[in-house]
Amino acid sequence: MAEMPKATSQQLADEFMEAILNLPDGEKIKQCIQCGTCSGACPTSHLMDYTPRETIAALRAGMLDRVLDSNTMWMCSSCYGCTVRCPAGIKLTDVMYELKSLAMKHGVRPKNVTTPALQEAFVAEVEAHGRNAEVGLMRRFFMGTNPFDGLRNLGLALAMKQRGRLSLGSSSVSPEGQRQLKAIADKARGG
Ligand code: SF4
Ligand code: SF4
Repeated sequence: MAEMPKATSQQLADEFMEAILNLPDGEKIKQCIQCGTCSGACPTSHLMDYTPRETIAALRAGMLDRVLDSNTMWMCSSCYGCTVRCPAGIKLTDVMYELKSLAMKHGVRPKNVTTPALQEAFVAEVEAHGRNAEVGLMRRFFMGTNPFDGLRNLGLALAMKQRGRLSLGSSSVSPEGQRQLKAIADKARGG
């Protein structure tokens, strides 16, 4: 089971399922015929613990914990290949987005998956400077995952810097730009 607080895990599971079913055409997951077209179309299914077809099957079977404990949604590249090909009209990309969004909101993290940490680092970097700076992003990412990995990659970073492929500095957008960005972020968060 992914890291859902035990006392509220059923409540969270219900909230997740309700959110998925309430997506536009979300109810269509009940019409999945398990044809596997989505998995065949998916460029990253070979990296996923569960293929898109298996993910829909697990959701329909109420096995949300397995879905959240897998790397599947974090391996989704949002290419929409599954969505445009599904004969049942299931918007699987939206389901993946919703799962990711809810997992981030509730701090549900599968083990051995670092994508959520990268997303958090990206948001923190943009909120701090109004833009993403590679070095700042990687510093935040490695501090949130494994600082020793950061040290191991230091040589690579310096080699890239020497070749002009990486800037070690960071700069911020104007205060007005940061204010506007914060307003957009607050709006996106429903504030
Ligand atoms: S393509 Fe659609 S109907 Fe076929 S398995 Fe995938 S989600 Fe189900
Ligand atoms: S949107 Fe995601 S799940 Fe669907 S085919 Fe693309 S990578 Fe695979």
